[in-house]
Amino acid sequence: MPTSSGLKGTRYSMEINGITVEPELRYSEMDLNPGILKALDQKGFTLATPVQAGAIPCFKDWKDVIAKAPTGSGKTFAFGIPMVEHTDPEGTEVTGLILAPTRELALQIQDELRQLCAFLPGIRVACLYGGQPIERQINLLKKKPQIVVATPGRLMDHMKRRTVRLGKVDTVVLDEADRMLDMGFIKDVTRILKQIPHKKNMGMFSATISREVLDISWLYQRDPVEIVVRPVEEDRPQITQYRLKVDMGGKVDLLCAILEKEALDRVLVFCNTKNTTDRVVGLLNMRQVPAECIHGDLSQKVREKVLGRFRTGELRVLVATDVAARGLDIDDVDAVINYDIPEEGEYYVHRIGRTGRAKRTGRAYNLISSVTDDIRLDEIAAHNRYDIETMTL
Ligand code: ADP
Ligand code: MG
Repeated sequence: MPTSSGLKGTRYSMEINGITVEPELRYSEMDLNPGILKALDQKGFTLATPVQAGAIPCFKDWKDVIAKAPTGSGKTFAFGIPMVEHTDPEGTEVTGLILAPTRELALQIQDELRQLCAFLPGIRVACLYGGQPIERQINLLKKKPQIVVATPGRLMDHMKRRTVRLGKVDTVVLDEADRMLDMGFIKDVTRILKQIPHKKNMGMFSATISREVLDISWLYQRDPVEIVVRPVEEDRPQITQYRLKVDMGGKVDLLCAILEKEALDRVLVFCNTKNTTDRVVGLLNMRQVPAECIHGDLSQKVREKVLGRFRTGELRVLVATDVAARGLDIDDVDAVINYDIPEEGEYYVHRIGRTGRAKRTGRAYNLISSVTDDIRLDEIAAHNRYDIETMTL
């Protein structure tokens, strides 16, 4: 089976329109702008990741793309490189638009695109997201960016104020497409897409692509190229998964016991709601365990700071909701602890995928405090063929 050495030692296989293809391609073989090649070279990247090898040539040819590839497999450059390639450094209109579900993700994308444009001085990238004063973004828009990365709500605000014009947009990307097309965003996304009648090119990128996404995609995409990237089975990281039973009131003590007894340095704790993340952090702090949370209600600055500290290892425990963690490049953690069992099986897969990346082994602990939790975890285990061991501390 064709494989690629890809990121962090994971090998991937790739299918394009259902046909297995060789995912090895160098950036130098893609006929890219020398400025982009120089920026990639500076980052030390020469070999494209599989999703990039699949998507960049299609996108460059203005073909619509729907790509499913695991978190951390380089999807941002898969659409970012061809979008920058298509951008006219002398242009004064927005021609490329990327929609993302959260401000962190939007900022992360902006940051990666700016790195790509390091040697292309005329190309300007702006990021529009809720939480930042709108005036500041209006000033940015006056500088005539050709590429805009935005969360849907704030982009709609700018459209209503007529501070952004999308009439010349030719390329649209939905990052984390399944999230962009689910209940929370679909209305806004539909309205935005209606304002872009002349788009030539549309890409949808996600780690999971649900039936619903495929159903909606045909409304917006013309004969899209379907790219699917999977880790090669035998290279799947070994994630040992545990089930720990506990009374509702004893969850935080159990969490502390796990942190202590299992000698874990970088731990991501998942809760189902913002309120729980706050409460868990409070209770951990009371027990002298330094922990912080990220969720949608925190100010932009605070979230970025917290995330930065977790990335550098300064912060040992990060407590998050699924939405806040989604799409973020939170690298290899020692363990994921499900303080709450997620309501959707897909979330479970995303959550535990945060561990086991670099060392190829990781751990996931599930705190079970009700029969419902137990049943849900059984279903997740059965559906994904996971082996989940029962553990007592
Ligand atoms: P995804 O969106 O698929 O979750 P990202 O686009 O966030 O993944 O990329 C994950 C990391 O991989 C980023 O730090 C990015 O800079 C890095 N990366 C991208 N392309 C390459 C490459 N060709 N070689 C090595 N690392 C890469
Ligand atoms: Mg991504």
